[in-house]
Amino acid sequence: MTERIVGARLGYEDSETLSRFLATGGDQGLRRAVLEMRPEEVADEVTTANLLGRGGAGFEAGRKWSMLRKAPRRYLVINGDESEPATFKDHLLVERDPHQLVEGATIAAYAIGASLVVIYLRGEFALGLERVQQAINEAYARNALGRSIFGSSFSVDILLQPGAGAYICGEETSLIESLEGKRGFPRIKPPYFPAVIGLYGEPTIVNNVETVSNLPWIVQHGGAAFKALGEGRSTGTRLFALSGQVQRPGPYEVEMTKITFRDLIYGKEYGQGLHPDRSLIAFIPGGVSAPWFFPENLDIPLGQDEVAKAGSMLGSGSVIVMDDSSCPVRSAWRIARFFARESCGQCTPCREGGAWIDKILRRIEEGEGREADLDLLLDLCDNISPGIKWPPAQTTICVLGPSIPPSVSAAVNHFRDDFLVHIKEGRCPHA
Ligand code: NAD
Ligand code: SF4
Repeated sequence: MTERIVGARLGYEDSETLSRFLATGGDQGLRRAVLEMRPEEVADEVTTANLLGRGGAGFEAGRKWSMLRKAPRRYLVINGDESEPATFKDHLLVERDPHQLVEGATIAAYAIGASLVVIYLRGEFALGLERVQQAINEAYARNALGRSIFGSSFSVDILLQPGAGAYICGEETSLIESLEGKRGFPRIKPPYFPAVIGLYGEPTIVNNVETVSNLPWIVQHGGAAFKALGEGRSTGTRLFALSGQVQRPGPYEVEMTKITFRDLIYGKEYGQGLHPDRSLIAFIPGGVSAPWFFPENLDIPLGQDEVAKAGSMLGSGSVIVMDDSSCPVRSAWRIARFFARESCGQCTPCREGGAWIDKILRRIEEGEGREADLDLLLDLCDNISPGIKWPPAQTTICVLGPSIPPSVSAAVNHFRDDFLVHIKEGRCPHA
């Protein structure tokens, strides 16, 4: 773990405790915000920082805040329903630095004038839920939360809400439905951008855990200092969750654009390369919805636009490495099966297309496929996401459906021979 901004405390064994938080600059950002700055000044710093949302879409946080409809009641929801396979950076921040999360959420609430904050955490984060609740209780006890925070005129409450195990509830409108006590069905946006019509019909900002965890640092050091890290639109640092077949998988906080995927996967400070005698066949640069990259893409820097220009996305910051012992057919199937199972079923291309792709990949994997299945798979992908490109053309209410084609088409197009061995010889060439 390389510590810089959000991970600055993670090197301490007791990073989750109040004493460590206070001994390492905790509360200073919040004190400065509520005692020395006006809410608009805090928002201006975040705009200057060009903090991009860390949940996956990379939308500018300051711009999102500026779109919040004016209304007497406004809500802030912190999205900690991190469930994307191989994404584990919010999990770490929630468990290991819950006070920073609470401080960041309170700063965001102050900047946007929220009357209530809800932190929505993945239900399976049992330890995280316990620690965040304790951090909230301790914040109330020292007047860092509640009425007249630190003697200022700003008051706000934070509620903690566990999710109930549905991946789709990490999609922001579905999360709002679930908070309202309804089934987690995504809403069509527009018009239901939460900033306009959100929780209980009121304007709501939904920010990711890592996004708000950056705020104490930004308020203390200034947006310009944050922007000085990285390059172009990719400012500050990001927590990358490196997993798969590398020697040293784990979370790494790195300055945006300053290192390449080669550095992250092979660098001594980071992944330390593949296992001996293995070679890289592919890697996914930003979570399982992202189009795959191949060895020729290793020298692309870890930057939002750099990755987008090469046809993929940094997404949720999870980098998954596949060496020549992994089967691309099986990998694509596992990803497709995950999405097919988690589909909420509202849209035909996602519900039907996902289920068919799951079935076809399964029969190929089990040695019962046909050669015509390859074109059928690509045709199904094209029906879910015309042109099979990212960002996808909108054929569905949310992006869960269009998250299936990138992996399936990458596997079929780049590893056709592997598919043919499965189909013609009924065996896996990687077994
Ligand atoms: P999106 O681009 O629709 O929206 C991004 C954010 O900007 C949202 O908060 C949205 O409300 C806001 N926004 C966009 N345009 C706006 C406008 N005109 N007015 C007001 N607000 C506006 O993306 P999304 O569907 O929210 O997120 C998709 C991404 O989430 C995927 O690309 C994927 O990488 C990621 N994801 C992450 C996880 C995880 O576990 N972290 C899980 C699944 C998906
Ligand atoms: Fe539900 Fe899939 Fe449609 Fe998203 S794309 S709303 S998950 S059916």
